Amino acid sequence: MDPGDEEPALERLQAEGLQLAAILITHKHGDHCGGVRGLLQAFAGIPVFGPAQESASGVTHPLSEGAELCLPHSDIRFRVLELPGHTEGHLAYYHAGAPGVLFCGDTLFACGCGRVFSGTHAQLHQSLQRIAALPADTLCYCAHEYTQANIGFAQWVEPDSADLRQYAERVAGLREHDQPSVPTRLADELACNPFLRTAEPRVIRAAEGYAGKPLNDGAAVFTALRTWKDKAYD
Ligand SMILES: [Zn+2]
Repeated sequence: MDPGDEEPALERLQAEGLQLAAILITHKHGDHCGGVRGLLQAFAGIPVFGPAQESASGVTHPLSEGAELCLPHSDIRFRVLELPGHTEGHLAYYHAGAPGVLFCGDTLFACGCGRVFSGTHAQLHQSLQRIAALPADTLCYCAHEYTQANIGFAQWVEPDSADLRQYAERVAGLREHDQPSVPTRLADELACNPFLRTAEPRVIRAAEGYAGKPLNDGAAVFTALRTWKDKAYD
């Protein structure tokens, strides 16, 4: 999944005595597909699944919304979601199970979301709303460990949130012991991630405070939050 660099993947495969059967790519950025070529040198001919709506390096099997993907030599199935916004053709891979699993690339981060590069704010808002509608126990495998920095901005938006305080304590404990905060449970994101909470009165008020005007819908609230974080926080 999203090999930005082949070395860590090759080392892990060798340490565990595993063969690579397929590569899944969420979007075209080099830190998500820069390792494809090196992996294909070691595992020639394996399929590389990726977005049909944008050009990601090395993709052999372009996929669109609704495609069903079965990993070779296994019965693990994923449904493809097109979640544009960070880029114009960004995909996520959803495995329905107990719990479900979502590989969401740079669309959702724990307590944050990706920046808008080659998509639009309205698209990214809509894509995050689609993630929000998945079962609440879904484990979201975001592609970067940005959680602690993201929590700081979320606390600008909702400084009095008890849920967010607990989330911050839990993540601080994990990071102190060098443990990842990803995957993150969707239920925790729904409670704490401002970019999924654009219909919450407290979040709307904070976004309006930044924008200096009333914001009439979720997309406008989202755009104000994303712009606020880009310009004043990151
Ligand atoms: Zn990216």
